[in-house]
Amino acid sequence: MTIKNMQFTCPKCGEVSSYAVQTNGEVTEQSGLASHRNLGNLRSLAVPYKNSPNRDAYGPLVPQGIVVHYTQGRYEGAISHFQNPASKVSAHFIVARDGRRVQMVPLPDPDTNGPRDGRYTAWHCKGGNTRYFGIEHEFGYTGATYPADWTEEMMDSSAELSAYMCALYGIPIEVPLAPNERDWFTGFGGHYNVPGNNHTDPGPYFPWDYYINRVEYFASRMADSPSGPTLTSGTPLQTAQGSEAPSYQTL
Ligand SMILES: [Zn+2]
Repeated sequence: MTIKNMQFTCPKCGEVSSYAVQTNGEVTEQSGLASHRNLGNLRSLAVPYKNSPNRDAYGPLVPQGIVVHYTQGRYEGAISHFQNPASKVSAHFIVARDGRRVQMVPLPDPDTNGPRDGRYTAWHCKGGNTRYFGIEHEFGYTGATYPADWTEEMMDSSAELSAYMCALYGIPIEVPLAPNERDWFTGFGGHYNVPGNNHTDPGPYFPWDYYINRVEYFASRMADSPSGPTLTSGTPLQTAQGSEAPSYQTL
């Protein structure tokens, strides 16, 4: 059964494809996919899932963008932190410097009439949690610089996740604010852009131009490649299926 009819504008050629998301999570063609055969493989992203209990307090999540963060600890430590109920923080994804990544909060149904309650709302930016997905990027220390600390492996792994979410939720691939501007944005921003937050991540050296370029690359690749992205093994990306709570893997 179709739960959502969606359109995807290929950032490479501009062609608009129409497709439908089914209740079982599959994506079926409606039109325009002849030259964008792999749109259905948006659902093929395979990312390990380690559940965070730090959700289900705010909601519903009505995604209008993606907030880029960095951690103040290593990848494994961030996972543990987000799995600790006492920390009261989480994010949808954490990406490591070597490209490893993990999902910790499920994504909501792409159907705007579907469940988008607090189960899908990560606790990553005070006041903005019901608006934004959160992606954390590994840093073991502060004072990160570019390019040494923003590895290509980390940027690409994250950009692929972002491209997926942009396609699924109609998030524009753009960065409307400067780092010193605080406002509710649509598209991409840093934690430093979210009103009411005093965080400075992802810092002054985050390579926005490179990152957005890679998001566009993966978005077009998802749409154009006959075989789809080559991805690490793992469980399918956790998304809502109807009103059922998602099943979880644990550490
Ligand atoms: Zn942050």
